[in-house]
Parts: sequence; structure tokens; C-alpha cells
Amino acid sequence: MDTKEFSKLHASLLSWYKKEGRASLPWRDTTHKERAYRVLISEFMLQQTQVKPVLERFYFPFLEKFPTLFHLSLAKEEEVLLAWRGLGYYSRARNLLKCAKITQGKLPKDIKELQKLPGIGAYTAGAIACFGFDEPVSFIDSNIKRILLRFFALSPTKEKITQKLLDKKAKLLLNHKQPFLHNQALLDIGALLCTPKNPKCKICPLNPYCKGKTDPYTFTITKKQASIKQQLHLALFTKGDKIALLKSKEKLYFNLYNFPSLLDIPDFNPLFSINHTYTKYRLQVFVYPLNAKTLLTHLYQDLEFFSKEELNSLPLSSMALKILKELENYSF
Ligand code: SF4
Repeated sequence: MDTKEFSKLHASLLSWYKKEGRASLPWRDTTHKERAYRVLISEFMLQQTQVKPVLERFYFPFLEKFPTLFHLSLAKEEEVLLAWRGLGYYSRARNLLKCAKITQGKLPKDIKELQKLPGIGAYTAGAIACFGFDEPVSFIDSNIKRILLRFFALSPTKEKITQKLLDKKAKLLLNHKQPFLHNQALLDIGALLCTPKNPKCKICPLNPYCKGKTDPYTFTITKKQASIKQQLHLALFTKGDKIALLKSKEKLYFNLYNFPSLLDIPDFNPLFSINHTYTKYRLQVFVYPLNAKTLLTHLYQDLEFFSKEELNSLPLSSMALKILKELENYSF
């Protein structure tokens, strides 16, 4: 493709974005004075969570609590975990807090500096630099990667697809004059048109220049992650209307409250079970109501009892939240 064709492609990409893109997403508002911070929050939240729940339940309440990076830098970890409650993957919340404290409320715009911060890899650094500061940089997430493979007809079965190769192609495609709109358009095309299954090539603005449009599946990496099934057996200790939880010291759940695990599986039926997925783990979680007298054992000495009101202001693991929701169907 020559310069003229790239200019045409950029123009048709922008015109599509103007009509069909998701420009109304709040973190795409370029006029807000806390724009870069709002991009940072959205990128962290969207790392493991879909747009819809982030938009409907988490993004605005978090910003209300911590309106600027400076406000966040003054927060205690427990407060941030509580604001993150329900989003899961709490390492994101911890890293976000660390970013705020390290930068003392002022985000850098250089991608190398951004990548030195906890939880910020190449993609997130590029997204913050471009969407927060209009830097002319390209970056690659799974959606953009799929577009690049198909657009340049890079076949994973015929050649080695390295990060270096993808970076080179993304840079080649970049619109240096309108990096913000260009990258937003690519993200939206990846999410709405160039989807893993049934790509909508007929209405795609990249169609005239796309080398892989006749056989997009040839240029797709299909990644199947084997899931691991596990069973967990948890105890439900109650005292009056209070429920016992344990503050985790494990790295994964550090400072979050969970239901205590049982070492021995009781010889009676659980009250209920729930399914819970975490990364590659598919957990079946059984919950057993147990007599509080069992608490005499040293294993449960760190248990704390909470009323329903207290539970509302406690940083809970996503699994604990799910169990509490299920408990609403029982007389506890
Ligand atoms: S034309 Fe088809 S394969 Fe090519 S980028 Fe668009 S949706 Fe993807």
C-alpha cells in the first residue's frame, strides 16, 4: 500500500468511527480535565471485565469516591479494595493504588515511564499515552491483534507471529495525525466487526485493503486454554445474625474477607454449592453450615463475625460475595 492508499484507509476508518463507533463511552471524553486518570481507571477495570458491568456498576462509583489520581494516592488499601468490590481480580486495585502513590497523583505520558508502573504493560501504557494524552502510538490488544493478522494476511500456521512483527504492522497502520480516533476505531472494529467468529467483512471499512478478508479464519490464532476443575469446601459459621469470615493473608486475596476453608469434608450434605470461575480454574464451591462450637479448634482462631450491615462495608472476595448472594435464599 502506498501513502495515498493509507490516507484513504485512514479516512474511511474515521468516517466509520464517526457513525458507528462507541464514542460516547465516558472514558473517551477528551474534554474532561481528569481525562488521563479516567482512561487509567477504565483500562484497569477493563483488563478482566466486560464494558457493560464496568459502565453500569463500577466506573462512576469508583470515580465518585476517588475523583483524581491525587485523591486515590491518599487512599488506604482497604478503601480501594472496598470500591473494587464485585469486580474481582483485586491485584488490579492494588496496582492502581501503587501507581497513584508512586506517581504522587501525576501520570507520565511517556510509554516507557508508564510501563515502569505496576500493572501497566505495553498495551495499557500505549492506551493511556494515546487516549489520555493524544500521543501518536500504536498498541496491541487481542482485538487489534486479530485485525492485524487478518488485514496483513499473517498466517499463524505458516509463519512465526512475534510481538516485534505485530508492533511493526501496527505502526505501519497507525494514523499519526489522528491517533486517538484511529486507535478507538480499531478497538471498536475488533469488538464489533472483526470478531473471532462470523467477522462482518462486508460492512468493514478496512475491507478494500484487507488481504485476509476472503478467508479470515486462516489468519486467526485460536487459543484454547484448558480449564482446571476443582472443588472447594467452605464453612458457614454463624453466631446469632452474624456470619464468620476470615481475612486472607494469601497473596491472591490479601486483605480480602473469605469464608473459611474446611480441611475435612463433613459427612453431611452442604447447604448449597455455587460455581465460580477464576482465570483457568472452574471451581465448584460447597458451603456447609457448622456449629460454632467447632470454633474451639485453633484453626479458626482468626475468624471475625459480621452483621449484615457490617458486611456491606467490608472488602470481600468475589466468591464470598457470590455466597452471600446465594445465602439470601436461606434463613440466615
Ligand atoms: S475485512 Fe473482514 S477480516 Fe478484514 S479487518 Fe475487516 S472484518 Fe476483519
